[in-house]
Amino acid sequence: MPEGAYRWFVYAEFVLAAVTFVALCFIVAPYGGRHGRTGWGPTVPARVGWVVMEAPASILFLVFYLLGAHRGELVPLLFLLLWQAHYVQRAFIYPLLMRSGSRMPVAVMLLAILFNLLNAWVNARWISEYGSYPVAWLADPRFWIGVVLFAVGYLLNVSSDRILRRLRGDGSSGYRIPHGGGFRLVSSPNYLGEIVEWTGWAVATWSLAGASFALYTIANLAPRAMANHRWYRDTFPDYPADRRALLPYVL
Ligand code: NDP
Repeated sequence: MPEGAYRWFVYAEFVLAAVTFVALCFIVAPYGGRHGRTGWGPTVPARVGWVVMEAPASILFLVFYLLGAHRGELVPLLFLLLWQAHYVQRAFIYPLLMRSGSRMPVAVMLLAILFNLLNAWVNARWISEYGSYPVAWLADPRFWIGVVLFAVGYLLNVSSDRILRRLRGDGSSGYRIPHGGGFRLVSSPNYLGEIVEWTGWAVATWSLAGASFALYTIANLAPRAMANHRWYRDTFPDYPADRRALLPYVL
């Protein structure tokens, strides 16, 4: 595919980010138990949904990456490693660890698969085919700033999800107020971590492809973080008043 045609997919991801943001300001996507609703058609256990919708982000990314002319080069291989560090965890480890009996609409799962297909194409093709990352890119501060952001975001995301899991360590299925770690400052530190991670990816790859994914992640998770925050405040009268939704001290 000529690069001109490829770019249309990148623009499509920017458009999708805008559409997603506007839509999610009005609808809370029902892929978790807390925001689950009827009327979205057939459902599957959330655990199954997570594996099926996130596995393509790992597997297809690898396939698209291997089609690229730069697939054997050091910097593209490091980017592949970062991507897989996130998506192997998200698709194959997170769903096995989760303590949730909730169900996910098949429609939500299918939409996520379509997004992951587009996003894997846009990002994998950029790093292994259309982009250019000679070994000298390792000496560029953008690479290291991006990698550090990615690592910090990853740790915040994974550690916050672990705190949530431990709330049900006694086998219960309800909701409690999470404490500690990033929850000291915000209601959805797992989303903040995810946003920091993909912002890091955008900086490290210094690409429109990476920017489109970072923007999409913000568009997807910021409205959801606001919904979670409202839900916590409505549900728990003793919810910490100084805790923000997504951005410490700000939002
Ligand atoms: P949530 O924080 O809503 O839920 C995560 C898990 O914790 C669920 O199993 C949930 O159970 C449980 N849980 C949440 N709050 C509580 C609580 N107060 N007490 C007890 N258990 C709780 O996260 P999401 O499901 O929205 O997302 C999961 C992960 O996927 C996150 O790391 C997120 O960053 C990532 N993600 C990334 C996206 C992207 O665009 N890159 C998009 C969506 C998610 P239950 O299912 O029963 O509610």
